[in-house]
Amino acid sequence: MSTELINSIYIIAAALFVFGLKQMSSPATAVRGNLLSAVGMFIAVVVTLFAREIVEFQWIVIGVVVGSLIGAVAAQKVAMTSMPEMVALFNGSGGASSLLVGWAALYGAEAGTFTLVTIILSILIGGVTLSGSILAWGKLSEVMTSKAVVFGAQRLVNAALLAALVVCSVLFVLDPSVTSPYLYVVIALSLLLGVMAVLPIGGADMPVVISLLNSYSGLAACAAGFAIHNNILIVAGALVGAAGIILTQIMCKAMNRSLANVLFSGFGAVKTATVVEGEVKPINVEDAYVILEAATNVTFVPGYGMAVAQAQHVVRELGELLEANGCEVTFAIHPVAGRMPGHMNVLLAEANVSYDQLVEMDDINPRMSNIDVAVVIGANDVVNPAAREDENSPIYGMPIINVDHARTVFVLKRSMSSGFSGVDNPLFFGENTRMLFGDAKQSIAALVAEFKT
Ligand code: NDP
Repeated sequence: MSTELINSIYIIAAALFVFGLKQMSSPATAVRGNLLSAVGMFIAVVVTLFAREIVEFQWIVIGVVVGSLIGAVAAQKVAMTSMPEMVALFNGSGGASSLLVGWAALYGAEAGTFTLVTIILSILIGGVTLSGSILAWGKLSEVMTSKAVVFGAQRLVNAALLAALVVCSVLFVLDPSVTSPYLYVVIALSLLLGVMAVLPIGGADMPVVISLLNSYSGLAACAAGFAIHNNILIVAGALVGAAGIILTQIMCKAMNRSLANVLFSGFGAVKTATVVEGEVKPINVEDAYVILEAATNVTFVPGYGMAVAQAQHVVRELGELLEANGCEVTFAIHPVAGRMPGHMNVLLAEANVSYDQLVEMDDINPRMSNIDVAVVIGANDVVNPAAREDENSPIYGMPIINVDHARTVFVLKRSMSSGFSGVDNPLFFGENTRMLFGDAKQSIAALVAEFKT
């Protein structure tokens, strides 16, 4: 196959990526967008079989088969609540691949300075992405503490690590060889830097880390594309890198924090929130039903607990019953609810909740005082008024859904325990708050049963 033909087909694949991404911006077209991009990637992989730039095509076929098998089995087996961890591992795999591709490129023909720089960049960014993602996986799956881990002189240590990485990278480029000790120092230091960079980030700031690592995996792939002179890898990497940066910005905005503040402040570790005290007012299903039955408008505010309980289908059913009862029903979505960007949208789409019932935080908040009942389903941090009121709170400044401004708030959760950030929630003691304790799916199913009888 001629280079011109290969590049022409790469352009088609790149266009499919771009159109796919565009369609992913709306829930209504997202599935089609995903499919378009997947077709683009399939075309890119098949054409690369003919390009034979670094390895014989048999190896690529073996890679595709083994990778697809692992991916298909993992996607089938993963619980919906573990998707965020899986996404973290995907990012890590992207980083590992770029590291290995960059490293392998050193064994090819003699490389010029530009190519050497891209090789070392793909190794460096790939290494940081790999170990950083493994740590993010650990924090998300709570294999290790999800809180920020900080120690004295941490920033100094990280700055020294980064400086050492830059120096060793330059020394490697000046005297490149596969046996150069600098190459191995760069690999080791980049893996260490990934760990050290993610350690001090914790609590509610994890969404930013996930999207940033996603962006890094793209940048590493882009550098790897330059390293092996593969145009479609450059394009795909740049798209992922840019999309990840945009997502990072959206997440920072959702937390009302700058990226530098997230990366360098050791969030959640320094401040201690004011201890919350007061009287908790539990409610049972029968009484909750009476209030809901009389309500003219209800907003559901889902959070991570809805994913744990897998309550989305019964929630949709309750919404339909309320509507049939003459009530206006909305779903208020916080941008960082759950454990991955778009988590709640995915769950509600799976349950066939209509898109026009979904309302964003900025649109629902001004209307909140006119809402009869705000039903909080396993959400905690994203409805915590301490973020608005308690300057000592580690989540102070993060915009929240102001459910406490609704006439009545039902909070559906199993206990009084805190959310991902580990911060107590004064909402639970609010004058207009009633706690409906129990698994969210069971509580909602019991409400559905009340409506049906
Ligand atoms: P939270 O983690 O703050 O709270 C979830 C609540 O769900 C818990 O308090 C828990 O209480 C309750 N819960 C768990 N299981 C059930 C169940 N079966 N039935 C009923 N309730 C249940 O969730 P939010 O969505 O409010 O906030 C998300 C947090 O995660 C934020 O801090 C965010 O920054 C962070 N994060 C978000 C990411 C993203 O991209 N969206 C990525 C990484 C972190 P109990 O145990 O008492 O039931």
